Amino acid sequence: MGLNEITARIRQAEAAAGRAPGSVTLIAVSKVQPAARVAAVLEQGHRVFGENRVQEAAGRWPPFQARYDGISLHLIGPLQTNKARQAVGMFDAIHSLDRPRLAQTLARLAQERGSCPDLFIQVNTGEEPQKAGVAPGETDAFVAECRALDLPVRGLMCIPPVDEEPSLHFALLAKLAARNGLSGLSMGMSADFERAIAQGATHVRVGSAIFGAREEGEGLLPGSGNRF
Ligand SMILES: *Cc1c(COP(=O)(O)O)cnc(C)c1O
Repeated sequence: MGLNEITARIRQAEAAAGRAPGSVTLIAVSKVQPAARVAAVLEQGHRVFGENRVQEAAGRWPPFQARYDGISLHLIGPLQTNKARQAVGMFDAIHSLDRPRLAQTLARLAQERGSCPDLFIQVNTGEEPQKAGVAPGETDAFVAECRALDLPVRGLMCIPPVDEEPSLHFALLAKLAARNGLSGLSMGMSADFERAIAQGATHVRVGSAIFGAREEGEGLLPGSGNRF
């Protein structure tokens, strides 16, 4: 498919939903993709990328950042507390804030640095035991807890169960965000980003539809809910 087609489909979905053109940010999920494919998308002018592992991103991005201005990196995978320092130094946004201890660590680091990446709280909308994220019923309390720590919470993020209609999960996430006064909605992947935009997504995370299929089993982290 490629970047141009996905961008065009995003513009169409925005228009169909009565949303302003450009109101949805495309995060090109480059995890596990060969560097040449990533370079090609950079050459086309795209600058917003998603990675799901801190270590992999740290190895891959510094050379690209030396060559291309304005790269924005988003962490979309689980964040271990002991990698938080490295993550806040590298990412512009973190989409996987999912527990009090991580919130406390990020707050401490933010104070130390005087800055913090934009944060999205991951919600386990399907309440799947193997998946990260706060339960829908715990979301209001966790948002309040993060705000009390002065963290820049921009929105909510979800990864719907693979075997359910994602629109129901997107609608639930939108409802939780609205009632907490949050404008950011990180939802929608290759198979369902148009449905996510119809439900109000502000950030779609699209990997294989831009770059091509990843190697079987790659990018999979036990417990992350990332079954790809
Ligand atoms: C890998 C991944 C994506 C992208 O998935 P595609 O189906 O390749 O678009 C989106 N979000 C998260 C959290 C991921 O881990």
